[in-house]
Amino acid sequence: MSLKKAIEFLVETLGEIEIPAGELKTKEDKIREVYEEASRCKKCPLWRGRKKMVFGHGNPYSRVLFVGEAPGEDEDRIGIPFVGRAGSKLAQIMLKYGIKRENIYITNTLKCRPPSNRDPKPEELQECFKYLKKQIEIISPAIILCLGRYASLVILGEKRGISYLRQGEFYRFGARIFVTYHPSAILRKPNLTPLFEEDIERVSKLILK
Ligand code: SF4
Repeated sequence: MSLKKAIEFLVETLGEIEIPAGELKTKEDKIREVYEEASRCKKCPLWRGRKKMVFGHGNPYSRVLFVGEAPGEDEDRIGIPFVGRAGSKLAQIMLKYGIKRENIYITNTLKCRPPSNRDPKPEELQECFKYLKKQIEIISPAIILCLGRYASLVILGEKRGISYLRQGEFYRFGARIFVTYHPSAILRKPNLTPLFEEDIERVSKLILK
């Protein structure tokens, strides 16, 4: 049977193949949908004070997801996570170990800024987790790095200290999960910098291998 005849036979036999609409969506499409949902979100009181919802930034096809705490003043103004002093510190140390920001995806546990940068409240973390969970499902990272205690609390349900958690490796959401300090802690306590760099280097070796 010629190829033309074989195709005609298959079309006749199988009829039209239905492809579910959702399967044609790219990761960018799916991320945009969740972004738009979060932009309209009023699930916790933080929406009242936000200038911009800070959803996440980077490559949705990345194997690596960094998760921080919550937007600060600069992030709230610009709408992109980790653009302030802590973000510069993180970018500087990432680059030192060969990780470019465009090669990861970075987000926070909360998408709106808590007033005066206060700590997130449990009910805010709980409400906002649905967006982080969707981001993880869409990006499907192989590695997640939790930056600080709120990320490790939300991602791992862990209340133990960073100095303990950073020594381990965890598995959840189909990903290998590591924990380190939040870059703002490095700014407050520069003596933590070597440990933070050690953790970034550890992750870089997995990314770059
Ligand atoms: S912090 Fe999260 S849950 Fe609260 S309003 Fe913003 S997007 Fe919604």
